[in-house]
Amino acid sequence: MSTDCLFCKIVSGQIPSRALYEDDEVLAFSDIAPQAPVHVLLIPKRHIAGAQALDSADAALLSRLFEVARHLAEELGVVKSGYRLVTNVGKDGGQSVPHLHFHLLGGRALQWPPG
Ligand code: 5GP
Ligand code: ZN
Repeated sequence: MSTDCLFCKIVSGQIPSRALYEDDEVLAFSDIAPQAPVHVLLIPKRHIAGAQALDSADAALLSRLFEVARHLAEELGVVKSGYRLVTNVGKDGGQSVPHLHFHLLGGRALQWPPG
């Protein structure tokens, strides 16, 4: 836990969130400012600063995050229409919270390339 990290505070319950899935390692919750009809954030409960801080010891955790994303995509009804799973890294990548998170976005046609 990083004491000044927003998403660590969400994990600990200090900051409330609308959880869609939770287990020992992973939390998924609704984004506070949804950019699409479906906008979920998937995070490891353990503080990891971002994709650049991952290493091979995190392989099982990453696989778990993607598994949860697939199940949520099914539950939320976007598998057939399609969806995007994305993680922003650093300033130019648009990362505003330095705790690894994947955005699961769907429910509308998303633009590519991103702005
Ligand atoms: P990033 O910009 O780092 O890729 O994504 C951070 C995301 O966290 C943004 O989409 C933003 O709307 C979301 N967010 C920021 N603060 C909160 C919060 O307090 N609660 C929730 N549920 N989402 C948040
Ligand atoms: Zn954190």
